[in-house]
Amino acid sequence: MPLSANNPDRNSWLHVSRNSDFPIQNIPFGVFLTRDDIITIGTRIGDTAIDLGALHQLGYFKGIPLTDDIFLQDTLNDFIADGRKTWRLVRNRVAEIFDSNNTELQNNKKHKEIVLFRLDEIEMQLPVHIGDYTDFYASKEHATNVGTMFRGAENALMPNWLHLPVGYHGRSSSIIPSRIPIHRPQGQTMPAGADAPVFGPSQMVDFELEMAFITTDANDLGESIPIEEAEDYIFGLVLFNDWSARDIQKWEYVPLGPFLGKNFASSISPWIVTLDALEPFRVDGPDQDPKPLDYLQFKGKKSFDINLEVAIQPKGAKEKIVARSNFKHMYWNMAQQLAHHTINGCPVNSGDMMGSGTISGPTADSFGSMLELTWRGENPLIMTDQTERKFIQDNDTVIMRGYCENDGVHIGFGEVRTQLLPVFNPKKKK
Ligand code: MN
Repeated sequence: MPLSANNPDRNSWLHVSRNSDFPIQNIPFGVFLTRDDIITIGTRIGDTAIDLGALHQLGYFKGIPLTDDIFLQDTLNDFIADGRKTWRLVRNRVAEIFDSNNTELQNNKKHKEIVLFRLDEIEMQLPVHIGDYTDFYASKEHATNVGTMFRGAENALMPNWLHLPVGYHGRSSSIIPSRIPIHRPQGQTMPAGADAPVFGPSQMVDFELEMAFITTDANDLGESIPIEEAEDYIFGLVLFNDWSARDIQKWEYVPLGPFLGKNFASSISPWIVTLDALEPFRVDGPDQDPKPLDYLQFKGKKSFDINLEVAIQPKGAKEKIVARSNFKHMYWNMAQQLAHHTINGCPVNSGDMMGSGTISGPTADSFGSMLELTWRGENPLIMTDQTERKFIQDNDTVIMRGYCENDGVHIGFGEVRTQLLPVFNPKKKK
């Protein structure tokens, strides 16, 4: 089926400002609360949110096999479970409805009043019910940097790293949408030089610059997904800030891996940009040497050229961009991750989320965490108000953005923005 929604020459009758992340070539999916307090599935063109539930009720998706209530839900899981053919039909139809040459809705004032919202009239929600969340560790630069700090340059990469996409199972319960603040976590740490652990607020709260992909129903227990088919099961991507408490992580992680240092919060951008929309931005990824085993060999361009940036905004000050990276640096791609995840017969369901792992590039200003950017705090970053940061301080806001650009088309993810509040105080809770 053609991806007519990606036509770079198409313009919309809705206003789209230059360099908006959401031109008519994007058509992402999200869930929002409307001005009438109704929850609905929607999309976005420029700064206009579009109620897909209302559009469907008004008959604009005639001919596409959709149940009546498919968009009148508080998650995208059922729509995602309908499969790639349906996602394509809907994206193509939305592009058609909002094409500047199409007057059907454009000239229907009454329908427009029902269907269109300004962004300040809606509140974005978590777009999917995330059943399971897995986080990978797929940037060679990141794994090398962290390995060097923890084990020395000689043993930076573990022996398995070049042979399989390393990952762990995280918690979905603490995945939150952009703009929900979090509290500094407390926990057990072993301070340098101490002979007994202590309890208290983490002193090393960090971000991880990641992207996450969201799957559809892929396989039953015992079945695996061949790598050639893996992308058919990927609905789309979001920006993913995988908050981490490095001091808690360092003390607890042996031998079973990440636990409380990682599962207190992960923040996502609320609009899911489909893999279809990203297709024009496909690029080669890093060469893989040694060659992976057969079930992990991916043919074709394996990555996507997605520019990423991280900013820190201290309270009351302007933001400072602290890192610029790119999704294309990932050594293991999404299809390899999904093929590996299911090779033992582990089922993957609609709405499952897979984090890429921290996306660090080759240069010191492209590292995807404070741990690497400040090299464990040895080289603090200077903020716009001249204060120093080794890690994230109370009341700082961390902002991540991502976008793709070529041939005059720019599409993006918007942002994920999260403020770190001081340690939770039960006395203040009302
Ligand atoms: Mn992570």
